[in-house]
Amino acid sequence: MFKRIAISLLAASATAYGKSVGTEQAVSTSAAAAAPAPAAPATGTTSAPISSVSRFTDAELAAAPAAPIYQFCQKPGQFVLTFDDGPNPLTTPRALQFLKQNNIKATFFVNGINYGNVETSQETIDLIRQEANEGHEIGSHTYYHKDLFEAIKEGTMETNIDKMTDTIQNIIGVKPAFFRPPCGTYNERVQKYLGASGYNIIMWGTDTRDWEFRSNPETLLDNVKAELNKQLTAPGVSPQTHSFISLMHDVHATTVDTVLPAVVEYVKSLGYEFVSLSECLGTSAYQATGNEGIANNLNGNNAVDATNVGQTMEINDSSSASSIEAKMIFSTFAVILSLFLLRH
Ligand SMILES: [Zn+2]
Repeated sequence: MFKRIAISLLAASATAYGKSVGTEQAVSTSAAAAAPAPAAPATGTTSAPISSVSRFTDAELAAAPAAPIYQFCQKPGQFVLTFDDGPNPLTTPRALQFLKQNNIKATFFVNGINYGNVETSQETIDLIRQEANEGHEIGSHTYYHKDLFEAIKEGTMETNIDKMTDTIQNIIGVKPAFFRPPCGTYNERVQKYLGASGYNIIMWGTDTRDWEFRSNPETLLDNVKAELNKQLTAPGVSPQTHSFISLMHDVHATTVDTVLPAVVEYVKSLGYEFVSLSECLGTSAYQATGNEGIANNLNGNNAVDATNVGQTMEINDSSSASSIEAKMIFSTFAVILSLFLLRH
């Protein structure tokens, strides 16, 4: 009798455990699904040995807020340029020059080792500093540009996040509050760690897919415009009702020389105004000084569920952390009870 109860409990616990793990692995975002990873450069991204140590205890992580996710601005008519994967000493200076000439403040989601290398290239470090000095905002895109699902498997998720936080703080003197996950992929574990680390997750509402279309210069701009138009000229979309965070990569010559100027001209012609990401979101790009622990990202009251009029939000499709925790607790309890019953 006890044995039968014990076996049923074990089976139930296995089901609950399987569901929670399966859910976590399946969590992704609609934006990510629409925008697969840009190709990473061949060198420097995988060679360095890294091991991960969490900066937070399990209790701290459990108590931490999940990082809020942003995809749109607070006010209609606003448009934000964000650049990922840089800096690249071969191309980023030309993006900076263009932005300065056009008086646009963008956000750069930088890596430590990707196209540039903060360990071996002073130019890379100087470019991050120059971006900040010229009024742009610096966010983290992880140190090694590692897909965070892969990083979790390797046990390097924490290092990838922490090392970039420290690097940015060392270079510009402040801790970033904006984070863009490589490949746009994250799950609840990532969201919790980023929340504990003081980050907001910044996704995008429209994509240029500049990295994909660059192989054919003749069709590049037509393709980019068609891609943007999926959102910008969708029925009912206008600067009166909508705002956009866009995505480009300042590491490609075609982007800084061709795509960037064309996108700026096109977006202006539609009537949008370029603003910085912090103005778009109404929250600072950087964490409060002296904040070493659980973070100051609780001001994300315009995150996903409160975007501007008419814009649908499909991004936060992850199942709730609490239901997963409940399943894990149930599994553990059921296993203990089963073992107890089996012994009797
Ligand atoms: Zn990237």
